[in-house]
Amino acid sequence: MSEARLARLRESISSMGLDALVVAKIENVRYLSGFTGSSAIAVVTPESAVLVTDGRYREQAGRQAASWEVVIYAVNIMDAIAGALEETRSLGLEDSSTIAFQSRLANALAEKHIEFTDAVVERLRAIKEPGEIDAIRGAVACARHAWETLLPMIQPGVSERQLAAGLDYRMMSAGADKPAFDTVVASGPNSSMPHAGITDRVLEQGDLVVIDFGALADGYCCDVTRTVCLGEPDPEALEILEAVHLAWEASFAVLAPGVAVAEADQAARDRLAESGFAEQFVHSLGHGVGLEIHEKPTLSRLSKESFEAGMVFTVEPGVYLEGSMGVRHEETVLLTEAGPEVLSRDITSAK
Ligand code: ZN
Ligand code: ZN
Repeated sequence: MSEARLARLRESISSMGLDALVVAKIENVRYLSGFTGSSAIAVVTPESAVLVTDGRYREQAGRQAASWEVVIYAVNIMDAIAGALEETRSLGLEDSSTIAFQSRLANALAEKHIEFTDAVVERLRAIKEPGEIDAIRGAVACARHAWETLLPMIQPGVSERQLAAGLDYRMMSAGADKPAFDTVVASGPNSSMPHAGITDRVLEQGDLVVIDFGALADGYCCDVTRTVCLGEPDPEALEILEAVHLAWEASFAVLAPGVAVAEADQAARDRLAESGFAEQFVHSLGHGVGLEIHEKPTLSRLSKESFEAGMVFTVEPGVYLEGSMGVRHEETVLLTEAGPEVLSRDITSAK
């Protein structure tokens, strides 16, 4: 696994006219090397792949990144990185690294040419391998188990906090390492805020409840949102539930390899405009999902990317009526040559 990914990375590095890449984002280090610890730097040249980490990870790095040269630093990580780059004249450094890291590396490598690179490894990660898709399916299974066993609890009288804790507990009991992000339970008027957290508000009959959750299992995330109505929705709630449903279907219908990502976002926006909610969809349509909860591709109007087979991403239109109520529907979707597959489709409120 590591060898094929390294080969693709080396192609990218040489196509940029560079001799090496210093990888600082820990998810990228994991993707390339297999090392799952929380602190390491990867240095990749045409001939070498060096994992620089500290003594806590000596044994783990040796096992997980077996084909890599593991360098354990005791005092100064920059000396260890410089040592791995002795033969190198020009190198790339991820622009997502911290300013402090960038300036320390520039000082340590004062005689070398350093370029900041944008999403080199992230672009490779956007196309998932079968093993990665299996891991995401595993995360979905944890989320589904949690959802199915939580459903009877979603009743008037329970608080947002209790529901969120219940979901997190159930996902982990089902095998998740942790929630993929802070679980959102936004009920009643709180549902009009797309990124509401949780409060102690107690659910009431007639509420719309937006529940946004996902599991992280075996390193990979999933992400779904369900909107539940306690009792019969009133006419306004019914209207936005229907509008979001139609927008989701409209954007889903567009998904195919080769199609501009921005088109899917636009399809949802156009459909919501037809329903009279052009101004109430206040975020982009979705985002890639993998080792990180938000990764490439970004499904927005501004995106220049096109869909490719192997991408896994969310489709999540929403309508938010300020101070009143909101609805979002989100699925984690895999795109294949044959078309899109909704990985999270079994997480359903219907029995
Ligand atoms: Zn979500
Ligand atoms: Zn999402």
